[in-house]
Amino acid sequence: MGFVEKSFYCRNAHNVAEMPKLRVEYDRENCIGAFACMAVDPDLWKKNDADNKADLEGGKENSGKWVKEIECSEDLKEKIVASAEVCPVRVIKIIDVETGNVLVQ
Ligand code: SF4
Repeated sequence: MGFVEKSFYCRNAHNVAEMPKLRVEYDRENCIGAFACMAVDPDLWKKNDADNKADLEGGKENSGKWVKEIECSEDLKEKIVASAEVCPVRVIKIIDVETGNVLVQ
């Protein structure tokens, strides 16, 4: 009996999946400077020594809110979401841009 090699078609989901796109909306005025966000994601949140509030790195002000859209990996998405969830005064909102789902209110 001869050896029959089976061939498999392997589809790597990471090659076909789209990168998550998030919209961060930050109500900076109501930040109390607890810096829990910064502890989770120090690349996205920076301490501003002038007023002891967090700055949204790369964010733009829009009608009193700071906003940033980010295309990211699934791992980074989890980190960004976690950095919003730990805010004690819930001033960080995260929206999935593709679906419109609010991930953190
Ligand atoms: S966790 Fe919330 S209150 Fe604390 S610094 Fe970040 S945004 Fe401000």
